[in-house]
Amino acid sequence: KRRNPGQSEFVQAVQEVAEDIFDFIQDKEEYHKAQILRRIAEPDRVISFRVCWEDDKGNIRVQRAWRVQNNNAIGPYKGGIRFHPSVTESVLKFLAFEQTFKNALTGLPMGGGKGGSNFNPKGKSDNEVMRFCQSLMIELYRHVGADVDVPAGDIGVGAREIGYMFGQYKRITNHFTGVLTGKGLEYGGSLIRTEATGYGATYFLQNMLKTQGKAIDGHSVVISGSGNVATHAAEKCHQLGGKVLTLSDSEGFIYDPEGMTQEKIDWVKDLKTKRRGRISEYAKEFKGSEFHAGKTPWGVKCDLALPCATQNELLGPDAETLLANGCIAVSEGANMPTNLDGVHKFKAAGILFAPGKAANAGGVAVSGLEMSQNSARISWKEEELQRLLLDIMQGIHDRCVEYGTKPGGGVDYVKGANIAGFKKVADAMLAYGVV
Ligand code: NDP
Repeated sequence: KRRNPGQSEFVQAVQEVAEDIFDFIQDKEEYHKAQILRRIAEPDRVISFRVCWEDDKGNIRVQRAWRVQNNNAIGPYKGGIRFHPSVTESVLKFLAFEQTFKNALTGLPMGGGKGGSNFNPKGKSDNEVMRFCQSLMIELYRHVGADVDVPAGDIGVGAREIGYMFGQYKRITNHFTGVLTGKGLEYGGSLIRTEATGYGATYFLQNMLKTQGKAIDGHSVVISGSGNVATHAAEKCHQLGGKVLTLSDSEGFIYDPEGMTQEKIDWVKDLKTKRRGRISEYAKEFKGSEFHAGKTPWGVKCDLALPCATQNELLGPDAETLLANGCIAVSEGANMPTNLDGVHKFKAAGILFAPGKAANAGGVAVSGLEMSQNSARISWKEEELQRLLLDIMQGIHDRCVEYGTKPGGGVDYVKGANIAGFKKVADAMLAYGVV
């Protein structure tokens, strides 16, 4: 806390990892001596810059943006770019720190980074978003590169924004390289990248349930968010026989007691990515469903929960409610959606709980596969990518089990993910000596 005043999200993320790592490194002198945890928790660099753009009325607007390059011990920095008014240096440092462990867990050669701006894309015209993205890239291009740092999408950054940023990068440098992932299929994108995070979080949930002889089929599911991760988690849960009861956005949640069909999920995707509307409209479109303004969906009785919106959206009391309602498993599609209090409650109750750094790694894993395809100038078939995503999620699950199995039985997935991710990065850092 003293080293990072005012950076509560970052301190929270480091604290969670440190709690698990301390036990593991206690008798390992080499990690202590090399101060590895302290070094991973200090970004390699934080680039902060001004982004100036002109809105449709001719006003000059000034935004702040960052790229946090946390650690490149095992590969080029890799992590998304977020556009949201809540973005601060602390939020991006926490995300870049988490990303370092997540990327290591995938088994692919990717370091950890994250970037973003306090720009709010809501209510902005396409032209305004384009001008902002182009202006951002005028500075960012000198810090990124296919072998240096490869950003992707995140909250507020989808296919449209990636297209504008990639186009600007190409124009400035004259290089057509895999500098960004999440690109359109026409210009180097990979199949199933869009679906990968939500699908992956669902596969992780499926893998956890399998350890207890259970499945998603026949269970009720509560999901928060209605963006990329949430809608694809809903889709995969529905395909696997789950009954998806809720989705949400920053204004409230919708409850559909009938459960969502593919048509309803497609309608939400269109609402959010094309019409850029609010989730409250769902209740007007589909009879029998309800919109609950200003609330999160954790009070709805369910068997399975997937928080897929944002950090700290599921607090201690929400965890208590979910447990009291009989929830048996939680898989985090978002990054750090459950606060420390909530994590402790889930752990104490011994339910299946997958932290974001393990459960939502499917997105960055397919981004890693996009990088490979770009380097080789080829594109793989959908079936091949689906198989790789399933394999990678199984591998992450198994690494968590390896390092997180409790002496009395059961798996602490948080601990397993933290230790497995840490070990890979730490061992690479040890090999480099003190740098
Ligand atoms: P989107 O922008 O597509 O969707 C974000 C969703 O979360 C929207 O429904 C949004 O509602 C809601 N939301 C955002 N901020 C808040 C807030 N402060 N309070 C309540 N709701 C909020 O983003 P993604 O789906 O891509 O990302 C969701 C989460 O998943 C993030 O934590 C992200 O870091 C994580 N993630 C994403 C990956 C990806 O591949 N996209 C990969 C790994 C993790 P509204 O429209 O009202 O803002």
